[in-house]
Amino acid sequence: MPGNTLYIVVPCYNEEEVLPETARRLGEKLRALIAAGKAGPRSRVLFVNDGSKDRTWEIVRGLHGGDGLFCGLDLSRNRGHQNALLAGLMYARERADMTVSMDADLQDDVDAVDAMVDKYLDGVDIVYGVRSSREADTFFKRTTAEAFYRLMGLLGAETVFNHADFRLMSRRALDGLAQFKEVNLFLRGIVPMIGYRTDVVEYRRGERFAGESKYPLKKMVAFALEGVTSLSVKPLRMITGLGFLIFLVSLGMIAYNVARWAAGNTVTGWASLACSVWLIGGLILLSLGVIGEYLGKLYLESKGRPRFLVREELGDQDGENGTEF
Ligand code: UDP
Ligand code: MG
Repeated sequence: MPGNTLYIVVPCYNEEEVLPETARRLGEKLRALIAAGKAGPRSRVLFVNDGSKDRTWEIVRGLHGGDGLFCGLDLSRNRGHQNALLAGLMYARERADMTVSMDADLQDDVDAVDAMVDKYLDGVDIVYGVRSSREADTFFKRTTAEAFYRLMGLLGAETVFNHADFRLMSRRALDGLAQFKEVNLFLRGIVPMIGYRTDVVEYRRGERFAGESKYPLKKMVAFALEGVTSLSVKPLRMITGLGFLIFLVSLGMIAYNVARWAAGNTVTGWASLACSVWLIGGLILLSLGVIGEYLGKLYLESKGRPRFLVREELGDQDGENGTEF
């Protein structure tokens, strides 16, 4: 049987309202898994504090002090969900045989973890949590999120449909992930590139039970752009296609203009001229913008800056043998 130490990794940004309840539910779940022999005695819940401005870290500290089941990682500042998650996963990689990543707001179904762990014990390396319906989301969130997945696919960024960052990863998969050095991080696009045996667990995504979404529309759009430009160069290729198409159109225009000139009325046509100047100008700017996006990425990647820095660790304090809970 493979090792079965489980770390549940939870990135938290200003989650003081939900954290006590989340800790209670996750603690309960993990204890049940340990009691059933599915997770090892050294399994932990790891909260990653992503530079919260509220009392999140104090709460994590309190949880850790009261119960060795809870661990914490305090990042030096806010680095965003993806980096916080990576920090947690890389920390857990050295201590766990499998990790389950989930949001702090209990939107991901805690009870789906059992099925994930079962699949891991059957030898699966990556188990994706896929939501079976989006009933609980607002109409706006649902339509924008679904458009997001479609657009991403269209632009060449392959992702698992309706899968966010609720997933189980084995240590082998995490070792694979550690070899992806990119600074522009889009985990749900990178994880499918790792390969190994994968499977899917369906769950119903609930509502955030307290607090506000930390992903307003502005962040969602930025996240979508990040996803596309990190995963695929298709937009660059589309520019080439666009350029070619416009070249063909301009050939037609030349033929048309020559014919008009031959017929002797060249003064009219100002409108079409003005239109094409605007159109071409706009397209050139757009294309330059897309190229600039990639150039900016290259610039950032070439710097190789650290993706996160850890301020404080609240780790597993127990001796080598672990504690039975
Ligand atoms: N999060 C984070 N850093 C950020 C923004 C969000 O660690 O800068 C965490 C947040 O605490 C939560 C998860 O990412 O655990 C998902 O955020 P949220 O639930 O607000 O997103 P939504 O479900 O609305 O898409
Ligand atoms: Mg949420």
